[in-house]
Amino acid sequence: MNPLNSKPSRFVASLANLPSLAMKVVFALVVCLIVGCTDNSPPSQFVVDVSEPSVQVEVGGHLVGAPVAAAFEEESESNLSVRSIVSQTESKPAVRPNYAPPDGRPPILAVQMSDTTAFGVPIGNFSDQLLLMRNDGAIQRIPKPEIVQQTVLNDRFRSIERNELSQQLRAEFGRNYLVKNEPPYLIVAKSEHINDWAQRFRGLQHSFKLYCTTHGLLTREIEFPLVAVVFGSRNEFLKYAHASGVKLPEFCVGYYFSDSNRILLYESDESSAKETQMTICHEATHQLAFNMGLHQRRASSPLWVIEGLATMFESPMLSGLQSREGKSLWPATRKHTWQSLRKSPESIQRIVTGLIQNDKAFESDFQNAYTVAWAMTTYLSQRRSQQFGSYLQKVGNLPPFEDYALTIRVSDFQSAFGSDLKLLTNKIIKHLETLE
Ligand SMILES: [Zn+2]
Repeated sequence: MNPLNSKPSRFVASLANLPSLAMKVVFALVVCLIVGCTDNSPPSQFVVDVSEPSVQVEVGGHLVGAPVAAAFEEESESNLSVRSIVSQTESKPAVRPNYAPPDGRPPILAVQMSDTTAFGVPIGNFSDQLLLMRNDGAIQRIPKPEIVQQTVLNDRFRSIERNELSQQLRAEFGRNYLVKNEPPYLIVAKSEHINDWAQRFRGLQHSFKLYCTTHGLLTREIEFPLVAVVFGSRNEFLKYAHASGVKLPEFCVGYYFSDSNRILLYESDESSAKETQMTICHEATHQLAFNMGLHQRRASSPLWVIEGLATMFESPMLSGLQSREGKSLWPATRKHTWQSLRKSPESIQRIVTGLIQNDKAFESDFQNAYTVAWAMTTYLSQRRSQQFGSYLQKVGNLPPFEDYALTIRVSDFQSAFGSDLKLLTNKIIKHLETLE
């Protein structure tokens, strides 16, 4: 089972003010989501397939090979045999890419439907749907019955120009919103606050890059503009989520939508600053980590490493934001849970063991799961940087759309960090005692 089939949730409580902005944003409980397209579809994973590295090229962090050839092979095969329809579930692709374009950039595939035509590169070809990476970095899911014709164009696939995407966003969000071109971001927000948002996102991006550089984590250039949408009200936010097919839990205040590759949040007068800042940083870290190659969409990377990294950047020190907490590396919401867990190293070790094996704790015991995931990521990235960097690469390069078998998942972890989990737990505990 895909480890991200279950939507991860993160809840933070406590209220505070947001002095740096004129407005406040509502957060009683914060729910972090990395969501896929529909409520049943597997949330966010990046495609990287290293099983055939010599014949693939990278598009937006996806290794694709002969997307066009793959699409056509599937078409011809489907004439010979009837494939079962697997609703929205992403089973294995019916045909794996097997051809590399000579210039390193795949040709664009035009997929004609009855009322519109989509352009992009197929990254997953299933019996029931085609997943097309568009030039704005979004993944479009096209039901197979809707496809009328597919045509290979002479043009090669490239990211959309920032100005062109700006115009599209202006048309999409209307005249009540501005679009600010703040590389690598395109920020959609109300005019009065847009500069504050730009400053925030840039601050976090700077901090994230710096952390990766100082800790030897390999990154790649961001290929597509990063779209961040800040709605003017919760109603607009919910309406947009609904129209996108995303079912949000109650109290959800922001999310990274892996299909569109956008982060979405809202501002309001009743909110709490601390939670707002943390949520923004958490979701923006997901977006950066996926777009800078630390994780890959559609690969089954363990959730502890994805959520651990995002939670790390909630801390005042790493968020890149001014804060009354100064330079603490502690995310405010993790302190209390950790202090409680700290009384029982055996409990911590039990949770560590569980997170290494699977992602179930993020459903059944989410507070402890997020806290221990953060603790593991903090210790491993700071004290075992080299192994952590290699481990990130390994799990980010897992074959797309495939389960991460438990035995391999555990063995990959042990190869990187050893099998003595009692020792590891003790080291994590000791390291956190040194954190300011
Ligand atoms: Zn998250």
